[in-house]
Amino acid sequence: MSTHQLHADHARLFDRNRFVYPVLSRRSGGISIGVNLNPDKVCNFDCIYCQVDRTTQSETQFVEIKLLLAELRTTLDLVASGAIYETEKFRGVPAAQRRLNDIAFSGDGEPTTYKNFDEIIQACVDVKRKFESHMSRDQARNPSFVIRHSSLKMVLITNASMFHRPHVQRGLAILDANNGEIWAKLEAGTDAYFQLIERTPIPFRQVLDNITAAARVRPLVIQALFMRVNDEPPPPAEISAFCDRLNEITAAGGKLKLVQIYTIARRPAESFVTPLADEEVDAIVESVKRRTGLNAIGYYGSVDW
Ligand code: SF4
Repeated sequence: MSTHQLHADHARLFDRNRFVYPVLSRRSGGISIGVNLNPDKVCNFDCIYCQVDRTTQSETQFVEIKLLLAELRTTLDLVASGAIYETEKFRGVPAAQRRLNDIAFSGDGEPTTYKNFDEIIQACVDVKRKFESHMSRDQARNPSFVIRHSSLKMVLITNASMFHRPHVQRGLAILDANNGEIWAKLEAGTDAYFQLIERTPIPFRQVLDNITAAARVRPLVIQALFMRVNDEPPPPAEISAFCDRLNEITAAGGKLKLVQIYTIARRPAESFVTPLADEEVDAIVESVKRRTGLNAIGYYGSVDW
């Protein structure tokens, strides 16, 4: 399997796991352990580029916390010990990327819609801490145990629609205290484009207000996916409005540490959605840098498209 195919292979199931799935992440250049809090595949957005297959019903409808935590423990051990690279799926991972990078809360829907969000984050933190204390003991014995950070990073990949809820705010605070990073989705500058892409009853203003409020508390990473819709890239006026929204967030005291510009890397459900060319991604990155002064980075589409 080529590195590119590995990047593209974000199947939620690993072996027999139902909630926890390791992937080779193109963003981090290492192994990210995904935690799926939405096994029922329900999301409060219906993004046109989403690659969750909602044409079939999932066999797993509810989060079974005990099982999820057990899967997290075994997957952490599997990656840290290097045993994962003996499996067929991960055998082809290049040496430089054989590194445990983070635990990422993402999955088949919006993770913050999970009703016990703060409790599950705390429980995963407890597993992580225990793992880290075992790691520091074992690291001396086995140098192939590689963790990039002294404390393993936790990433919440979110559409920011639920940040106003108190239990979500508690969950975010737990992440803040445990090397957490929040990657909030923002990929429109206008209400019309937001509706075209995200197809949700949740108002664009609520998402903007939530991002601003959360970014006042800790620096956020913005993730923005731009694409061709019916072969049309986002109009220049939309990118300009997107930069204006970013500037409004920072002018209101929000801290944005990075803007990640993506395009489609995996085939989405909707066939009218296709990736931008590499130079179009580069042009958006340059616009963001020039118009906002923020740090921005681009991720290209799939060469196998
Ligand atoms: S927010 Fe994420 S999971 Fe939900 S529809 Fe959009 S891309 Fe899919």
